[in-house]
Amino acid sequence: MNEDKFIQVNNLEKTYENGYQAIKSVSFSVKKGDLVCLLGPSGCGKTTTLNMIAGLLNPTGGDIIVNGKSLLNVAPKDRNIGYVFQNYALYPHMTVLQNVMFPMTVGKNKKPKDEAERIAKKFMKLTHIEELADQKPGNLSGGQQQRVSIARALVQEPQILLMDEPLSNLDARLRLKIREEIRNLVKEVGITTLFVTHDQEEALSIGDKIILFHNGVIQQDDKGQDLYLEPNNQFVANFIGNPVIDNFDVKVANDQIVGSDFEIPVAKLNSSKFRSELADGDYTLSIRPENLKLADEGELSEVIDDIELIGRERVLKFNHAGISQRALIDLEQEVKRGDKVKFKMNLDRIYLFKPDGERIY
Ligand code: ATP
Repeated sequence: MNEDKFIQVNNLEKTYENGYQAIKSVSFSVKKGDLVCLLGPSGCGKTTTLNMIAGLLNPTGGDIIVNGKSLLNVAPKDRNIGYVFQNYALYPHMTVLQNVMFPMTVGKNKKPKDEAERIAKKFMKLTHIEELADQKPGNLSGGQQQRVSIARALVQEPQILLMDEPLSNLDARLRLKIREEIRNLVKEVGITTLFVTHDQEEALSIGDKIILFHNGVIQQDDKGQDLYLEPNNQFVANFIGNPVIDNFDVKVANDQIVGSDFEIPVAKLNSSKFRSELADGDYTLSIRPENLKLADEGELSEVIDDIELIGRERVLKFNHAGISQRALIDLEQEVKRGDKVKFKMNLDRIYLFKPDGERIY
């Protein structure tokens, strides 16, 4: 078995009964023991993909291979996959211990009661819910309920763990805490995990890699920092990053990149970074807010509309050609609302996209 391709999804497709094609020939692989995030906006096909892996939905094309074997003709209950849902899906009339033991009390995974209890307690310890053994789910906080559902998914020692937006019902602080716990836990148990989220910061913080979907198509399958620094296309550049990337409409003509009131000679760009030839025409020039620096001389001359403090940095907001844009500066720099300032672009860190979103530079 090739550990780098523990899960292999090959040309997977899903067209629903109403004719809607939710997944269009998706292929990716997952390394054994990795935690991989399936990321994308609502409706992009993340849950559809997860449900096909779990066997809750049948693909209309392609294959899913785990540990060298196709899952397609394997019944969901025989796939040996743990699934953690957004809404926890706990049994309200059972105690925490009974909920966690449940998968070991039915079907072919049935175990003697004392063994089931021992295994349940082991995973309850790992998920920090030992003290809650006799409580009913209704008495627990959202974070505690999610820990119960994670423990319940792990007791069968599944070959894969699937998690669909497991943190979305939790408040912001708890989300940060539980996502760290989940990462520590799956690494400790060593289980290969697919984690669905629409939250790019969550994906960047816990994913060994991120598979970014849009309209049923993978836009980029990479490490988080590569999605951030080397986006494949305009969609990826716009989706990843907070504050979001700044976009400027430009024209390329006569070896100049011409914006509404700035010009950059093409010769100033690093020629090795061009992905294909830069023909004359319309483009979007994109730059992340931290790559606009206050300077005595710069490409942009702007009036600061608003200043927002985010921890150790400040977001400066300004309006350029009718579009609100942002720069990110550290706390020490003197600037106030209404100031007229200049921004210098870090030209090594700009991107140029064609109107169809393809990245050229
Ligand atoms: P979300 O984050 O909102 O859950 P998602 O990325 O998980 O979104 P999916 O639930 O996989 O998206 O849905 C993908 C697309 O397929 C959506 O446009 C959705 O409306 C459509 N879809 C989902 N289930 C069905 C169905 N049973 N019949 C027809 N279309 C469906």
